[in-house]
Amino acid sequence: MTSSPGVPSLDVRGLAYAYPDGTQALFGVDLTIGRGERVALLGPNGAGKTTLVLHLNGILHGGLGDVTVGGLAVDPKDKRALREIRRRVGIVFQDPDDQLFMPTVREDVAFGPANLGLRGAELDRRVADALDRVGMAHVADRPPQHLSFGQRRRVAVATVLAMEPEILVLDEPSSNLDPASRRELAEILLSLDVTVLMVTHDLPYAAELCPRSVILSGGVIAADRPTRELLMDARLLAEHRLELPFGFDPALAGGAGSVSPRER
Ligand code: ADP
Repeated sequence: MTSSPGVPSLDVRGLAYAYPDGTQALFGVDLTIGRGERVALLGPNGAGKTTLVLHLNGILHGGLGDVTVGGLAVDPKDKRALREIRRRVGIVFQDPDDQLFMPTVREDVAFGPANLGLRGAELDRRVADALDRVGMAHVADRPPQHLSFGQRRRVAVATVLAMEPEILVLDEPSSNLDPASRRELAEILLSLDVTVLMVTHDLPYAAELCPRSVILSGGVIAADRPTRELLMDARLLAEHRLELPFGFDPALAGGAGSVSPRER
C-alpha cells in the first residue's frame, strides 16, 4: 500500500468530537495539508490541538467527519488500513521518554520498521539513514537514557522517520530545549524532505520553520494564513491568547514563515 502523488498528505473534513464525559472538543475542523508543506498548529490551552492530533492516526475516533492520510481513510474498524495509517502518521510526542524504551538507540529506531517486517541489511539501512538525518548516527550503540534531552528528542524524531511517514507530527518540538539544541533541531527539521504539522506555543519557532500557520481555538479553525502575516495580526493573536515573546518582531523575522522580498 503506497500513497499516490498529487493527493494531499493530510485531509481533515468536518471533524467533530466529544469526549465520553460530553466535553465537545472539536466542532467541525477542516484542514488540508499538501505534500511537503510545513504547517504550525497554534492555539491556546484547551483549544483541541491534542484531540485533533490523536485523530490523525486513529487513537481517538467515533465522532463525525473524515480524516485521510495520503488518500487513505482513517478507519479504526479496518485493522490493516489502520496499521498503514500508523506508519504514515509519525507523531513525535513532547516527552521523548514516552518513545524510547529499548537498551540502545539503534534498537529503538529499528523497533518500528522491524515490526513492519524489515530485516537484515534493509533494516540496518533504514536505521542508519534515520539516525543520519537527525545527526545522531554516532550514538547508535548508546542507551537512550545516557543522552541529553535534546539528543533524546532527536532520536525520537529518528524513530518516526525510520517508518518513512507521509506526515511528521511534532508536539511542542522546542519545549525544554536549550537555545543551541533548539536551533540544531530547527536546522534538522528544515533539512527534512517531509510534510510537517507542528503543534507549538513557540511562535518564533513557527515563524522560522513553517510558511503556513493554523489557529485552532474553541475546537474550530479560527485562522489559516502565511505564518508571518498571521503573527503580525496583533488583534487575532490576542483573541486567541497567543503571545509573541518580548522583543520579537514578526515583521523583522526571517525564516520559512516570512513573506518573500517581492511581497514586502
Ligand atoms: P489542547 O491540546 O489544545 O490544549 P485538548 O485537545 O487537550 O486541547 O482539549 C480540548 C478540550 O477537550 C478541552 O476542553 C479539554 O478539557 C477537553 N479534554 C481533553 N481531554 C479530555 C478527556 N480525556 N476527557 C474529557 N475532556 C477532555
